[in-house]
Amino acid sequence: MTALTWTTLGTAAGPNAHGTRAQPANLLHRPGWAVLVDAGDSAVDQIARAGARLADVRAVVLSHLHIDHTGGLFALLGRRLQPRVGGPLTIYGPPGTAELVGHLTAALRYLADLGHATNPRVSPIPAVTAVEVTEGDEFDLDEIHVRAAVNTHYSFPPDSDDNARFQSLSFRFGTPGRAIVYTGDTGPSLNVAQLAQDADLLISEINDPNRVPPALRDKGPAVAEFVKQHFEREHLSPSEAGTLAARAGVRAIVLTHVGVDDADLAAARQLVASHFDGDIHFARDLDRF
Ligand SMILES: [Zn+2]
Ligand SMILES: [Zn+2]
Repeated sequence: MTALTWTTLGTAAGPNAHGTRAQPANLLHRPGWAVLVDAGDSAVDQIARAGARLADVRAVVLSHLHIDHTGGLFALLGRRLQPRVGGPLTIYGPPGTAELVGHLTAALRYLADLGHATNPRVSPIPAVTAVEVTEGDEFDLDEIHVRAAVNTHYSFPPDSDDNARFQSLSFRFGTPGRAIVYTGDTGPSLNVAQLAQDADLLISEINDPNRVPPALRDKGPAVAEFVKQHFEREHLSPSEAGTLAARAGVRAIVLTHVGVDDADLAAARQLVASHFDGDIHFARDLDRF
């Protein structure tokens, strides 16, 4: 069986626009078949740049519903619908995914009706199905076995309604020949370390806790404090990413969702390496692993 490739379509830490990195999206693929893992704005065009076709995408797996991870979903659905590209599509994601997909497909009604009105010979609209998953859920995507685990990107009190409603997931993709774990966005998490145990490849977010995104500068002390807390608890510093990889015993780490300025990448690499002695890759858009 053909080995699967993991391509980092978009490696920015969203949602702010970045000059050289697209919003978060990844493609797990082999020729003629693909799964989109997170669907940041511009994912559809990045799929083409990666040499794959929109029609190849059979499923989408969403880690959480922050806009940097979902902004390309409407384009994905609409650009399949208008030219009738591709067959049935299943979208997996945390609680809230079915509502999101329902609204997006409802918003495509005009386009669907227009297609039928102008060209009655067009084939029926391919089915789009949403499947909500949570802690411990497992599902199969052809030869890939997937397991989901809740991470710490959101930090609500454990028994609260918000904690049940807003979940952020990490995924383990058991593919023929190797296991790949995708953290999505997360803070330090024992649950993610367990999910990633002995994996071949850990695709991890990384964030410089001292870097304030340009759009959030000069917003006053309350915003500065929120950003500081958010970065410390709900994202991974270079040291924490390295610690996660070491604790999980993975062979290699690929760092994406890169919330580190280019000028600070070498220092970040050193910090990761001070905790983890496996292979360390800082991903760029369209890198293949
Ligand atoms: Zn994000
Ligand atoms: Zn997020």
